[in-house]
Amino acid sequence: MTNAEEYDGLTAATRAVALGRPKRIAGAAVNVPVSFTSTYVADGDVSYARTSNPTWEALEEVLGSLEGGSARVFGSGLAAVSAVISLVPVGGVVVAPRHAYNGTTGILGERSAAGALTVRPVQADDVEGIVAACAGADLLLLESPTNPMMELTDVPAVLRGLADRYGDQRPVVVCDNTFATPLVQQPLSWGVDAVIHSATKYLAGHSDVLLGAVVVSPQRADLAERLHTHRTLHGAIPGPMEAWLVLRGIRTLSVRLERATATARVIAERLREHPVVVRVRYPGFGAMLSIEVGSEEAAETVCARTRLWMHSTSLGGVESQIERRRRHPLEVDTVPVDLIRLSVGIEDVEDLWADLEQALAPEAPAP
Ligand SMILES: *Cc1c(COP(=O)(O)O)cnc(C)c1O
Repeated sequence: MTNAEEYDGLTAATRAVALGRPKRIAGAAVNVPVSFTSTYVADGDVSYARTSNPTWEALEEVLGSLEGGSARVFGSGLAAVSAVISLVPVGGVVVAPRHAYNGTTGILGERSAAGALTVRPVQADDVEGIVAACAGADLLLLESPTNPMMELTDVPAVLRGLADRYGDQRPVVVCDNTFATPLVQQPLSWGVDAVIHSATKYLAGHSDVLLGAVVVSPQRADLAERLHTHRTLHGAIPGPMEAWLVLRGIRTLSVRLERATATARVIAERLREHPVVVRVRYPGFGAMLSIEVGSEEAAETVCARTRLWMHSTSLGGVESQIERRRRHPLEVDTVPVDLIRLSVGIEDVEDLWADLEQALAPEAPAP
C-alpha cells in the first residue's frame, strides 16, 4: 500500500486521489482489489476477515489521512454511531444535540429506555449550555451542521469551555462530520477525540452503498483499540465491495463538492428571495440546506411536484434530493412540519432552479 506519510503536506483534494493504492512497482494494478475472502492462510498477520480486510485498509488509509487520525470502517454510519455509544459505561451520561440525526437520537432513546445510559439533550448552537450539561458526562456527541436543522456548533469554543471547567475530567468528545466532510472541516484538528462519518453520503457520493467510519485522534489510541474490538466482536463490518465503492467515490469528492457547493450557494440566495419560502437554513458552506414553506401541505406539494430533484431520503449523492423530514415518524418533533431538506447534487444549476421554481410556484391561475 501507499505510505501515507509520503503525501503529508499535500492538500486533502490530492490525498483523496493519491492514497490507498497499491505500491508503485512495475506492473502493479493502480487500484486495490476487492478482497472477497472470509479467512486467511494461517501464521500471517491476519487470521479472519471480521478483524481486517485489505480493501477496508485502503479506505481507512485515505479517511484517516483526510481527517488526521486513525480510521475504522463500519457497516453503516449508524453502526459507527452505535460503536461510539457502546464506549459509554452502563449508567453513563451522554450529552447530544436535540436535533442530531434521528438515527442517533433513536439509539440514545432506545439505550436510555433500556436503562443503559442517561441522555442530556442540548441546543447545538448553545456553547454555554453544552459545556454546563457536560458535568459528570461520559460522552459529548456533537454533530455540526445538524441534520436537518442545519445548526452549527462552535466546536473550538466548546472544547475551550470544557477544558476551563473540567480540565482532564471532560467527557470524550466526538463529532459527526457527515454534512461538512473532511474537505470543509477537520474536527480532530480542533481537539475532539473522534469523528464519525456516514460515508453513505458525500464520501461515497452516488447513492449506491451504505458504510460508516470513525476516525480517532492520534492522541487516543485507547479509543481506536476499543472501537476496533467493538467492530470485531459485534460484527459491525462493511463488505469489501462496499469499501471499494466508497474508496472510488472519495476519488471525486473534491470536484463533486466544489460543484455542488457553488450550486447550493446560488440556490440558497434565490430561495431567500422567493415569496413562498418562509425561512432558508444554509450555513454558508457545503451543499445541504433546509427551507420552510409555511405548512405541511405546502411542503408535501413541493416534494410531489419536483421532476429533477429526487423525492427520497438520504443525501450527498450526485443527484439532487428533496424531502420533508417530518414525514418520518422518528424525526424529532421540534423539527418544523413544513421543513424541506435539500441535498444539492451536480446537475446544471439552472435546470435545478427551474425545477424548484415550478414546484414552489403557487398553483397557476386558471387561464
Ligand atoms: C445518514 C446519517 C447517519 C447514518 O448513516 P447511515 O449510513 O445511513 O447508517 C449518521 N449521521 C448523519 C449526520 C447522517 O446524515
